[in-house]
Amino acid sequence: MGICARGSLRGSFAVHKMARIMTAILDTRRYLTNFDSARQGNILTDVLVIGSGVAGCRAALEAARFGMVTLITKDAFAKSATNYAQGGIAFALAEDDSTDRHVDDTLRVGCGLSDTEAVKTLVQQGPPCLQELTAWGLELDRKDGDLALTREGGHSVNRIVHANGDQTGHALMETLERRVRGVENIRLFEHCFVIDLITIDGVCRGAVTYHEKHGHQLVWAAQTILTTGGCGQLWRESTNPAVATGDGFAVAYRAGAVLRNMEMMQFHPTTLYVAGAARALISEAVRGEGGYLIDRAGERFMADYHPDAELAPRDVVSRAINEHLGKTRSNCVYLDVRHIRGFAARFPHISKLCADFEIDVTRDGIPVRPSAHYMIGGVKVALNGRTDVEGLLCAGEAASTNVHGANRLASNSLLEGLVFGKIAGQTAGETCITLPKPTPLPGVANKNPESARTELLMSDIVHSLQSVMWRNVGIVRFGERLQETCEILDFWAHYTLDKTLDTPMGWETQDQITVARIVASSALERTESVGVHYRGDADANAHSEPYHILVSCGLDGLLVARSELEK
Ligand SMILES: Cc1cc2nc3c(=O)[nH]c(=O)nc-3n(C[C@H](O)[C@H](O)[C@H](O)COP(=O)(O)OP(=O)(O)OC[C@H]3O[C@@H](n4cnc5c(N)ncnc54)[C@H](O)[C@@H]3O)c2cc1C
Repeated sequence: MGICARGSLRGSFAVHKMARIMTAILDTRRYLTNFDSARQGNILTDVLVIGSGVAGCRAALEAARFGMVTLITKDAFAKSATNYAQGGIAFALAEDDSTDRHVDDTLRVGCGLSDTEAVKTLVQQGPPCLQELTAWGLELDRKDGDLALTREGGHSVNRIVHANGDQTGHALMETLERRVRGVENIRLFEHCFVIDLITIDGVCRGAVTYHEKHGHQLVWAAQTILTTGGCGQLWRESTNPAVATGDGFAVAYRAGAVLRNMEMMQFHPTTLYVAGAARALISEAVRGEGGYLIDRAGERFMADYHPDAELAPRDVVSRAINEHLGKTRSNCVYLDVRHIRGFAARFPHISKLCADFEIDVTRDGIPVRPSAHYMIGGVKVALNGRTDVEGLLCAGEAASTNVHGANRLASNSLLEGLVFGKIAGQTAGETCITLPKPTPLPGVANKNPESARTELLMSDIVHSLQSVMWRNVGIVRFGERLQETCEILDFWAHYTLDKTLDTPMGWETQDQITVARIVASSALERTESVGVHYRGDADANAHSEPYHILVSCGLDGLLVARSELEK
């Protein structure tokens, strides 16, 4: 059985029209860990869902209508980006709104790289998902009995629903967690780390996991759905929770999946900047409700950079702040909300957060600066959630459905998790009932060779990696620096990816190096600026047809290719 063999799909871009392909050296092993099906615990399930954010919960609930689901998450259930979402979820519900208008806004912000069919699916299937959520007990904020709708940058009308003011994600997670825990067909493993996907002859058969109590286990599944979220933890400044280390991208890459547009990291313009404190997001809805940006001299500056000033798209505001910080030699700018009446009632979480740092929002500006926020790229999927690896599906921030193109419209990502999580769950569920029940396969084992090379300290590498990604693969990028970053990452890879480690922190570090290399290579290959990817050295007069950057694991290392957009 070919569990380590580089199957026909591994490294293959066969179905794509390629403009060019380049190869880089990233010496990853097929599996990070040793395992043996004869010695370790074997768990059987129809559908394996990895990750307990909005996409994972929604996928599990749908798949459980067809068979037995095992939901695995590496920390406590609620530790996900979903739980921290503040602003809300976009739905075309208002009287002056329509699905066409929401589609148009999403496509316009996506800068020509979005897939129209995917965007239509996202927008059209949103309202039924909202009905389900309210039936399951999600209470949304209301004004005079109607849903309170707000607006964020890039939206042409107010269409964003929210809960408990600025704690939408928390309310959503409580609703989904209650629902998931109430379904008999869903078995839940918290504090269980997915180290790698098991592929046999190129087909995904489940995953090798590490549980803090039970150690290594093999989970055999007819269908596997990756919903592992993003990778904001690759950057020094980030809004993302600690779990966002990009494991899903790395395991999919090692298993032979194709990743798309991984250079597209969206930077959020306004993250609380207090020295020594963890970075926390100050929602864009604050600017939507009238908050404006001032510099340390108390001057508004956004109108100098864009006609929409504070409500310009996120990438524009992030770059403007970045440039203004340079011009004024400052570490942060300030979000001024002193004039907003009832701010504490509308944004209770942000007000408390500021108060914890002795910032009185009625008197003081909130110190902010940009940070890494949302991975637009991801594991390439078809509209039904299928990846290029048979038996493997993907949804949520980990997936590239192509709805966001080169820039994500605010509050479209929770919507994406709901809609495409449900679709992936349905595809997996419908497929698993047509397949034989999974059984543990005897003699499936992996043993990596010992490494004699020096072991580097993992925590040192993570800090250095976050710094270099922030400096060289941040808001403004240059070819020379990107090339240098690839070389630095290859050096770390040489001394860390050859080791067989035995802790989640070790595997996360190996995944972070792998994903950082994929992001840096993709950013190097995309030589012009588009959407959130801004090249400071781009030739402003050069024009090329829109293309995708695809990455896959080839026989000689990492393959990076430009591909024409699918028609
Ligand atoms: C601070 C903040 C505010 C935001 N505000 C909004 C907003 O207002 N509106 C909006 O639409 N979007 C918002 N976003 C973006 C949105 O929250 C995310 O894109 C979305 O929640 C992602 O959902 P997900 O289910 O794909 O992943 P997540 O919610 O991140 O869940 C990923 C899950 O995978 C698990 N996991 C990861 N690796 C492994 C592994 N190796 N083994 C096992 N489990 C693993 C994690 O533990 C977690 O449970 C915000 C994001 C942040 C960080």
